[in-house]
Amino acid sequence: MEWLTQLIAPGGKFLGIEWHFWKVVGWMGNILFTSRFFVQWWATEKHKRVVVPDAFWWLSLSGSGCLLAYGLYRRDSVFIFAYLFTWIPYIRNLMIGHRVERSLKTCSGCQTKAPKSARFCPECGFNLAAEREPDRSAPAP
Ligand SMILES: [Zn+2]
Repeated sequence: MEWLTQLIAPGGKFLGIEWHFWKVVGWMGNILFTSRFFVQWWATEKHKRVVVPDAFWWLSLSGSGCLLAYGLYRRDSVFIFAYLFTWIPYIRNLMIGHRVERSLKTCSGCQTKAPKSARFCPECGFNLAAEREPDRSAPAP
């Protein structure tokens, strides 16, 4: 068992790392930032086309935030510059994704999202034009 202890915690340090608060923040950033690739890959495989889900941008934002905080703690100009401005496209992509989501209607046949101008569902062929949007301009009875 000594060999296992030496493998996992050489010198009494877990994975050979000197752990402290900022090390946890930095590694958390690494885990969040790396996990976004798997989330995007999973979404793409699930939909059988290239998909970038909101979770990808949230993981990008939180991961780069942790890595920026770690870079600031270390006063490492390379880390700081690498993550100082990345939040801008992440937030912008979340805003655009939210705007696109609001511009879609849901097929009552299969729950697929389609543009409001679509007459038929691109997934199941359901006649979307036959469905009526609720009239939001009319006053409530
Ligand atoms: Zn459908």
